[in-house]
Amino acid sequence: MLADYAVRVEDSRGRRHFEPPHAYRNGFQRDRDRVVHARAFRRLEAKTQVFTRRYSDHFRNRLTHTIEVAQISRTIAAQLGLNADLVEALALAHDLGHPPFGHAGEKALDAAMRQHGLAFDHNLHALRLVEDFELRYAAFRGLNLTFEVREGIVKHSHDYDAKDHPELAEYLLDQRPPLEAQLIDLADEIAYNTADLDDGYEARLLTVEQIAEGVDLFARHYREAKSRYPNAAKKLAFNEALKSIFDEFVGDLIANTARRVEAAGAHSLEDVRRHTERLAAFSPPVEEARRRLKEFLYENLYYIPALATEKEDAERIIRELFAHWMEEPGDLPRNYREKSAVEPLPRVICDYIAGMTDPFIFQQYKKYCGE
Ligand code: MG
Repeated sequence: MLADYAVRVEDSRGRRHFEPPHAYRNGFQRDRDRVVHARAFRRLEAKTQVFTRRYSDHFRNRLTHTIEVAQISRTIAAQLGLNADLVEALALAHDLGHPPFGHAGEKALDAAMRQHGLAFDHNLHALRLVEDFELRYAAFRGLNLTFEVREGIVKHSHDYDAKDHPELAEYLLDQRPPLEAQLIDLADEIAYNTADLDDGYEARLLTVEQIAEGVDLFARHYREAKSRYPNAAKKLAFNEALKSIFDEFVGDLIANTARRVEAAGAHSLEDVRRHTERLAAFSPPVEEARRRLKEFLYENLYYIPALATEKEDAERIIRELFAHWMEEPGDLPRNYREKSAVEPLPRVICDYIAGMTDPFIFQQYKKYCGE
């Protein structure tokens, strides 16, 4: 069933700590299950994706977004003959390292770290989570995931330079990740670019006319939906347009990736790894439409005044709490105080904050910064 360029679980480079094989679950299936049972995974439910619950309780959060990415990724993997178990494990893990408050939280945490000559990167944080912070097993710290899942967590969305990241040397930084990891980033794009239009429209922050005006791709699909269902309510015509945009992205990614693999003459995982660039990609016109849609969302949704207060609150809360613990490390929980004996204090505080849910960080802010 697997294509010749797919990852085969029997060829896995294995886990850090030896574990006997399971009776009926292979290594990637076990990794997927370990991710689902991790505490960091459950916390995704209470982390903002784009909209807080101020707008509605049926908008996406990090957990439902993650499930959407897993669904899209499995569909694409099946069509391309890729390893669906590995893909599912990677999709479910892809946002584990995100801090509270969505993109604003990520920027604020990174800014706080830069004051101390350090940085915050959600992929690297996710790796630390699965390698060290999750404590579920008596025999080792972390989830003891297979090499391929750890590699995908680090490399799915961008390439790290070996010079800047000697600690990542084992992850074959001079090679491309397998297609199973490459497609996660694109499935993520498909998921949030369409979902954010949907939630933005539902929140009444975007109108159909405004989207059609700014995004040709949407205008075309909306016209088609209207001509197919002339009497449909506006929201249902909008849904139909969104559904066919989604379909166009997914179909294009499958067809274009298959074309690129063929053109590159990639017949093995090694060929995929050694190719000069990533082989998973949209075709040029669809890539251009994706870029335009994303640009539209930045201009008309992510940075609009209606969402500014929440962003500013997020930045202030992270900035002030970070500064508070820098001054009063005694206020950190005991296990974090202990960690600060072996790691720089800013890193320990960053790890603590990055793991928090939105409600928990609010509570901490009230406790230590008063309000
Ligand atoms: Mg994501």
